[in-house]
Amino acid sequence: MMGRRIVILGAGFGGLFTARELGRRLRGGTGSEILLLDSRNFHLFSPLLHEVTSGSVEPRHVAWPVRALGGTGRFAFERRTVRSIELERKIVLTDRGEVPYDFLVIALGGTTDYYGVRGAEQNTVPYKTLQDAVRLRNHVLEMFERAVIEPDPGRRKRLLSFVLVGAGCTGVELATELRDLARKTLVRHYRGLDPREVRIVLAEATGRIIPCVSQRLADLGLDKLRRKGIEVRLHSPVVGVTDGAVELENGDRIQAETVIWTAGVRATPVVEALPVERDKLGRAVVNEYLELPPFPGVYVIGDGANSFDPRLQAVLPPTAQVAVQQARSVAGNIARQLRGEPKRPFVYRHRGDLVSLGTGDGVGEIVGLTFSGLPAWLLWRWVFLAKLRGWKNRVRVALDWMIGCLFERDLAKLEW
Ligand SMILES: Cc1cc2nc3c(=O)[nH]c(=O)nc-3n(C[C@H](O)[C@H](O)[C@H](O)COP(=O)(O)OP(=O)(O)OC[C@H]3O[C@@H](n4cnc5c(N)ncnc54)[C@H](O)[C@@H]3O)c2cc1C
Repeated sequence: MMGRRIVILGAGFGGLFTARELGRRLRGGTGSEILLLDSRNFHLFSPLLHEVTSGSVEPRHVAWPVRALGGTGRFAFERRTVRSIELERKIVLTDRGEVPYDFLVIALGGTTDYYGVRGAEQNTVPYKTLQDAVRLRNHVLEMFERAVIEPDPGRRKRLLSFVLVGAGCTGVELATELRDLARKTLVRHYRGLDPREVRIVLAEATGRIIPCVSQRLADLGLDKLRRKGIEVRLHSPVVGVTDGAVELENGDRIQAETVIWTAGVRATPVVEALPVERDKLGRAVVNEYLELPPFPGVYVIGDGANSFDPRLQAVLPPTAQVAVQQARSVAGNIARQLRGEPKRPFVYRHRGDLVSLGTGDGVGEIVGLTFSGLPAWLLWRWVFLAKLRGWKNRVRVALDWMIGCLFERDLAKLEW
């Protein structure tokens, strides 16, 4: 099977790694064309977004141009927004016309799931994109600007209260970064504000935080958060958000000008509209090869896929680690199909998790070893630096971190 057109939708963790792996596997080979499509022309390294918000890392340094990553022409990139997919006709419909395919890899990521909570979409700050991270940073700085000249103690308290909904990795990492930014840097420069006036609340529906790590480490993390002054409310589903307050299921109301939604991921509208089996989060149910039945040659990976792991007896979580391993598996199977060889089922191998808990602190498990405190945080930085794309960007982030050790975080609220 030679000279086929492989179209990959999305240049995030799943899509970009599929394109790179296929480019490598098909080098000098089959005459097949690899085309990568994305509505933005950069790959976003979302695990460092909370450091963008806190001002530890510059926004540009977590975004890399896909064209530069394409290297020596192993795959082509086109900036297009996917509108829908016609699986029967083997056509992707985009804002700039139709794109036919022989093989299709759908790696469009996910969108925020508000679980139908009243007022959540209108009154919370989402946290998925680079714009979200920069917007939140500006918003936090604006709250401090307003609080420092606010004479009414009640209104000042509301301006300095930040509620995060969801205590997964993103919520926990962002809460601790915000706490460091607010208590270590901002209160020092906004004279007249008492550090005790800054309130950070993490509202979690279940009975535990950071479900990606073991119960023991999660308990340790919870203890650390509480000692840092972060109010963690377990068993506290949010049932409504208004302009200025969060309502919990037990009837409590938390007054806060800022509510950040760090809970819930569901499939993008393009995947939700596919005429295939989907789960309650809109994700497409894939088989053991990550293929979409009954459409051979169409794969779904990453946050948009419902991929059941028979060994874990669970659907794999929406993480970069899962998306990258799925990408490698799909690239391998497409290359095998082009050579007329049988496909191999996807096997997920969990390598561990590391969670930053603010400067100098963290928890994590890697290859069966557990870490906490400074060693976990140093390992976290080392691992994520190694996972960044491109040496130029690794150096940029490393320099940002070195500057952060010597000088305090920037306070400029840049708006353009
Ligand atoms: C703040 C944050 C922190 C995170 N931290 C971690 C972490 O520490 N560790 C970890 O393992 N995971 C982490 N994750 C999760 C991880 O980022 C995702 O699981 C991973 O990115 C999923 O990969 P993906 O390829 O499915 O989607 P993505 O990486 O999101 O890529 C999807 C791509 O599709 C593009 N796209 C979407 N819709 C369209 C369209 N209609 N047309 C064209 N292009 C489109 C997007 O622009 C994007 O480039 C984090 C996520 C967030 C938001």
